[in-house]
This record gives sequence, C-alpha cells and structure tokens, in this order.
Amino acid sequence: MKLTHAPNPVIGQHWVNVLAAAGIECELHNRYLTGALGEIPADQCAPELWLVDERDEALARRVLATAQSGPAPGTPPWKCHACGETLEPQFTACWRCGTLREAD
Ligand SMILES: [Zn+2]
Repeated sequence: MKLTHAPNPVIGQHWVNVLAAAGIECELHNRYLTGALGEIPADQCAPELWLVDERDEALARRVLATAQSGPAPGTPPWKCHACGETLEPQFTACWRCGTLREAD
C-alpha cells in the first residue's frame, strides 16, 4: 500500500532507511518512472513510499513523524562526511557544504 510520498529521492531513501531500521519493510516507487526507460533528472522525481505489509502502517507513520520532527533528545552531534564539519543533531544537512547527513 502507498504510505506517503517523499519530496525528493534523497529524503525518500532516507525514510526507507529509517523504516528499515525500525524493522518495517518498504519500497520506493516513482510514478513518473514506472515502466519508463532512460534517465530522468533526480529533481523531477517524486518518489512514493510503499509499505510491503500494510499492517505496519500505524508504526510506519509514527516512525516517519519522529524522523521528520527532529532528533531525539540527547542525540549527539554528527560529523559531515564530506567536509568534516561538526553539526548539531537538529541539522539534517551540513550548513557548510550542503551534504545530507548519512543514515547511521
Ligand atoms: Zn559538510
């Protein structure tokens, strides 16, 4: 079943990783690419997040809500893997070089 759609493929993949870490199986689908061959620039994609098992829906929505509302209290700072900048946990991307935080 379709859970939600992600604003871009990077965030979509992040959500897949977050859900996988919570033990929820899901897939990224792209309505514009279904059945299409060839490459389309990533910014033209609007990926959809599909749950493999719809019984996971309530938990999945909770996990995503948590993921979008910021880090849990006590989350340590993280280090940008591209430029080495140390960043506060509420940032999801490096303010210095724009690199997105990698999933742990
Ligand atoms: Zn950086």
